[in-house]
Amino acid sequence: MRIFINPGHAPDPKDDPGAVNHKLGLKESVVARRIGERVATYLANVGYEVSVFQFDGLQRICDEANGWGADLFVSIHCNAFDGVARGTETFYARYSRAGRRLAEYINDRIVKTVKSNYDGWDRGTKEAGYYVLMNTDMPAVLVETAFIDNISDAKILIEQEDAFARAIACGITDWHKLYLP
Ligand SMILES: [Zn+2]
Repeated sequence: MRIFINPGHAPDPKDDPGAVNHKLGLKESVVARRIGERVATYLANVGYEVSVFQFDGLQRICDEANGWGADLFVSIHCNAFDGVARGTETFYARYSRAGRRLAEYINDRIVKTVKSNYDGWDRGTKEAGYYVLMNTDMPAVLVETAFIDNISDAKILIEQEDAFARAIACGITDWHKLYLP
């Protein structure tokens, strides 16, 4: 099974950092890349074919995933809103049952694996019309790991990078074992 991992945005020198926590000097593009590479390592270690691709053009990302014949597409991001909002949420394409199940498995694993002191940490799964979800040919999800512009969430992203990665990898293997007959 081929799994396409897309860390959101693009690090230097592309200069598409995504959301930035200026206080901590923390860029979404860098956090997403680090988590994505760890996910890839976990999945490769148990025998999956994995591709990690980070780029600042959305159509190109879809073309790479479709052209490679990926079976699953997972985009990894950090959320940002008003500096107060916290938690994790996972999006899937409208009308995609397989995508919804993948989002549920990944989101469940994250809220169980990543330690948070915040009651509303689980923001759940939601459908969305994001470009990469609508223009990829395989079940696709977009994970919003945590809010990088909130200091507590940003610290969780730094300190529990590996927990996010393990959770996402386990969510993918859950889907493979439990959803795919
Ligand atoms: Zn993003």
